[in-house]
Amino acid sequence: MLSYRHSFHAGNHADVLKHTVQSLIIESLKEKEKPFLYLDTHSGAGRYQLSGEHAERTGEYLEGIGRLWQQDNLPEELAPYLEAVHAFNRTGTLRYYPGSPLIARHLLRDYDKLHLTELHSSDYPLLRSEFQKDERAKVLKADGYQQLKSQLPPLSRRGLILIDPPYEMKTDYQDVVKGIQEGYKRFATGTYALWYPVVIRQQIKRMTRDLEATGIRRILQIELAVRPDSDQRGMTASGMIVINPPWKLEQQMNNVLPWLHKTLVPTGNGHTLVKWIVPE
Ligand code: SAM
Repeated sequence: MLSYRHSFHAGNHADVLKHTVQSLIIESLKEKEKPFLYLDTHSGAGRYQLSGEHAERTGEYLEGIGRLWQQDNLPEELAPYLEAVHAFNRTGTLRYYPGSPLIARHLLRDYDKLHLTELHSSDYPLLRSEFQKDERAKVLKADGYQQLKSQLPPLSRRGLILIDPPYEMKTDYQDVVKGIQEGYKRFATGTYALWYPVVIRQQIKRMTRDLEATGIRRILQIELAVRPDSDQRGMTASGMIVINPPWKLEQQMNNVLPWLHKTLVPTGNGHTLVKWIVPE
C-alpha cells in the first residue's frame, strides 16, 4: 500500500531544487525546435493547495517556495521555474504549488509530449483531471519503473526522464538504478534526472556507487543540504543526479546554488554541491 502523499511536502526546499533543475533542463531541450518527450515516472497529484490541511500541517513550503516568493533580484536561472509557479498564482498570493507534471505542462511547447504515471489511488484521479484537455499528455495509473522499458526510446529520440520516487521502500534505492539501466539500454542519449533525499548518507553513497558501476558516463550530482548529515530521523538534504545533463547545467547550478542556499537556509547550515560522479 502506498502511504506517501506529496501534498504534505509540496513546495519544500527539496521541491525548489528539483523543479529548478527540471525547468533548466526543459529550457535547454527547447533550444532546438525538434520535439521531445517529458516522461515523469512518479508524477504525484499535479497541483497542491498550500492552504490545504496537508501543507498547513507540515508548513514545509514556508521554508521552500515561501522563502523565494517575495524576493526581488532573483538569479536568472530561477526564471522558468518561478514563471511556472506564478502561472498558478496569478493574483500574486501564493496559494497553489505546481508539481513536476504541471511545471512541465507550462514549459513544454505544443509539439512536445508528456507521459505521466502515478500509482496512488487518490492522487492518480487528480492528476488525470488536470490533463483531461491536454492532447500532448498521456496519463496512466501504472508503475513508473515499467515506463523506462515500455516508453523508451521516444519517437522523437529526445527526452527528459524525471524519476522521483518517495523512497518509502528501501528497495527504491536499488530500483532507481535498475530502472535507469533499463532506460539507458534503450535510450542512451536521453537526459535522466533522478531525485534523492539524504536521510541516511550511506544509502546515497551506495546508490551513487551502484550508478557508477553501471558503466554509464556523464553523471552529474547536484545537492542542497539544509542541515549537516545526521543519524537522527528526517531529511537533511536532497539532490538531483542528472545523466547526460545539458552542457550549461553544471555552470547554471554553480551560479544559482549559493543564492538558493543563502535564501532557503538563512542560518547558513548545510552545504551545496555540484560534482561529476562520472565525467565524459
Ligand atoms: N514528481 C512529483 C513532483 O515533483 O511534483 C512528486 C512525486 S512524489 C515524490 C512520488 C509519487 O510517486 C507519489 O505520489 C507516489 O504515490 C508515487 N508512486 C510511488 N510508487 C510508484 C510507482 N511504482 N510508480 C508510479 N508512481 C509511484
